[in-house]
Amino acid sequence: MKFSVYTKLIACYIIIFVTPFITIQMIGSFHLRTEITNDYKSSLYQEANYIAKGLLSNYDGDPVSFINEKNQIKIAEERLKTTILIVNKEGDIIISTHRQDPNKETLNLNEWNSTLLSNTFSENIIIPDYINESSLFISVPFTDKIGMRGYLLMATPMSNIEERYSSYLLSLQFLFIPLSIVSLIVFFLIYLFLVYPLNKIIKATKNYASGNYDYTFTLRSNDEFQTLSKTLTYMAGEMNKLDDYRKNFIANISHDFRSPLTSIKGYVEAMLDGTIPTENRDKYLNTILFETERLTKLTENLLELNGFENKRIGFDITTFDINATIKKTVESFEGVCMNRHIQLQLDFSEDEVIVDADIGKIQQVLYNLLDNAVKFSHNDTYIKVSSSTKGEKAFISIKDYGIGIPNESLIHIWDRFYKIDASRGKDKKGTGLGLSIAREIIHAHGENINVISTEGVGSEFVFSLPLH
Ligand code: ADP
Repeated sequence: MKFSVYTKLIACYIIIFVTPFITIQMIGSFHLRTEITNDYKSSLYQEANYIAKGLLSNYDGDPVSFINEKNQIKIAEERLKTTILIVNKEGDIIISTHRQDPNKETLNLNEWNSTLLSNTFSENIIIPDYINESSLFISVPFTDKIGMRGYLLMATPMSNIEERYSSYLLSLQFLFIPLSIVSLIVFFLIYLFLVYPLNKIIKATKNYASGNYDYTFTLRSNDEFQTLSKTLTYMAGEMNKLDDYRKNFIANISHDFRSPLTSIKGYVEAMLDGTIPTENRDKYLNTILFETERLTKLTENLLELNGFENKRIGFDITTFDINATIKKTVESFEGVCMNRHIQLQLDFSEDEVIVDADIGKIQQVLYNLLDNAVKFSHNDTYIKVSSSTKGEKAFISIKDYGIGIPNESLIHIWDRFYKIDASRGKDKKGTGLGLSIAREIIHAHGENINVISTEGVGSEFVFSLPLH
């Protein structure tokens, strides 16, 4: 069964508050009652013996001889709220402090249980026709020079003890009022500082889990919960971006696949139904070939990027001369550069720059950067490819004097499928994935790639590699 923190908190509160209450009520009250009864007994016992020994030892059989002592008995009676009786050994009542005098003059002591007259306490005793209320009872025999002359009897109503016990218990129970107020405050504070922020965080995570990333919430407390809430809000923002990115990504892929497929389908249909005459077929077949190459490139790029994402691409790090690799890659572009009168200049600070990297992947980076440089260069300009070293790094730069990149696009060129509108005319074959692949490769080597560009002036891409 699942219990919320709130329920558990209430359970703790009940345990903390109710348990001592019940314990004190049950165990405490038992002790209290015993203590009060013992206290009563000891007072009664002292008083009874005092009167019996001190005052009654002079008894000469005549009730008048008690005149002086009567006051003492009265004081004892008032203090202990007890009925005091003095009877002779035949049971005749000599003195009684009974308030409602029942006009009884003799007690039938012979019929009494012997323990009642044995100088010990008996509880819940009733003296028939005389004391009808259940009482705590003690009898002290008194003697004079001749021998045993009678008894001093004391009977305190049990209700007196009960009353005193109840008043003590009540004051004990009053202690629970401040205790309950304090524990209520503690309970409220725990709720405010723990349960309330936790509930807010749970509500937020539920919203985020259901895709509502715009849900915002704030916690005013300056503690770990606030840190957690800020982290959650940040995470939701990132997930929101990722969600947008995913949607864009799918939209881009669909678009980039659909347009070449539509044109391929259109040309093939037109060839089949004779709309395109046989003599023109070669031209359209070339267009179809161009589109299929584009689709192949797109698929390869996507697979490669996916491989980086799943960390599936293994890197084969070897030691090689980056200058030699640059020369080799540049050769692939000589044909196209010649046609467009673009000069390819190499500028190496040292004859050999030996690096540790995956040669195949670095070739791909160089290829992507050179491909862009050539695509976006004006005819009759030049592209400078250089390498240099600084500290433990080699720096490779590809610089062109082409159309350049607008400032606002600089942060986006690394995004997948991103193509600057102005470049679309010059770059029909581009997929917008070349730079993101280059960046993934360089980052996977633990290095960096950057761009400096001015629109209308040109661009320079620089990346670093670890020197051997
Ligand atoms: P693609 O694979 O289509 O070339 P990239 O990711 O390599 O895509 O480049 C993204 C965009 O960045 C290009 O479409 C272009 O607009 C811009 N870009 C990249 N390199 C250059 C450059 N050297 N000069 C001007 N613009 C460039």
